[in-house]
Amino acid sequence: MKRTEKLLVLDIDNTVFNWVEYYVTCMRALFEQVHAITGIAVAILQREAQVIFEAEGTIEYPFLIQEMPSVVEHYAHDVERMLREAVEPGRKAFNAAAQAALVPYAEVIETLATFRQRYANVPVVALTDAPRYVAMWKLNKLGILEYFDAVYGLPDPRIPADPINLKVKVDPEILMKHLQKSSFGFAGRIRVLPDDYEKPGTKGLKTVLMDFDMESHKEDVLWIGDNLRKDVGLGVRLGVHTGWARYGTIIRQEARDQLLLFSPQQNVAKNVALDPQNDQSPQPDFVMDSFKDLLAAIEGTLMKTP
Ligand SMILES: [Mg+2]
Repeated sequence: MKRTEKLLVLDIDNTVFNWVEYYVTCMRALFEQVHAITGIAVAILQREAQVIFEAEGTIEYPFLIQEMPSVVEHYAHDVERMLREAVEPGRKAFNAAAQAALVPYAEVIETLATFRQRYANVPVVALTDAPRYVAMWKLNKLGILEYFDAVYGLPDPRIPADPINLKVKVDPEILMKHLQKSSFGFAGRIRVLPDDYEKPGTKGLKTVLMDFDMESHKEDVLWIGDNLRKDVGLGVRLGVHTGWARYGTIIRQEARDQLLLFSPQQNVAKNVALDPQNDQSPQPDFVMDSFKDLLAAIEGTLMKTP
């Protein structure tokens, strides 16, 4: 890819939308729906979810219901019936809740549109630790996929199968979207990074810099994320400009507590910036108190004439 003059790289979760509120709202709907259908206690479903998310290496594993031991047992390995009676309604409850809960932070769309107008030649890259498919599903639902030139995510979720009767445990229509690596109509670059490229390692952002031929032009790169230790820290280590989406760290205690009910501790730290800012924290070049501060961050870093 030919070198661009400047490059903007954005984290997604808690940088362009409130991931914690979205996820606890949708997961509550999912658990309650599965509970209503099967009678299995929500607390049991949540504990089983923790184990599955841990094993899959992502709290956003989309084939959760069909992997829960209590659900599998409830349907005695009758895959079709389980998919029809529990998995589909559970998935639909999650998606229905997402209609209202999966929304960008204030002025994200307006700011991205202004950015596009003002800096038509500056590519915008999404760099996330979410599985690539899940990341693009979210950006598409958020209505902002079109503002990105590239999406970098982790490997797509594993397709679950029943080991006893050797059946794939995914509705055929959904399965097709995953097998065909749906890109949601996205025309930009899609890159699936190896699992060990997860932040706070620098390999993911390094790959972005290599792809855009910006390795020796780090002063022309701005990287923005909500996690001071992880996002800002890795940017500082790499020597690019960094913006801290401080607004993304403002999370209601109740939402945080709900997240803990179904996520392994390591995953909470992965998805929520838990460490308060202190003297040892990495120092961002720019602190953002809302997404619209992006324009000032760009003026203050990339567009600053020396
Ligand atoms: Mg984030």
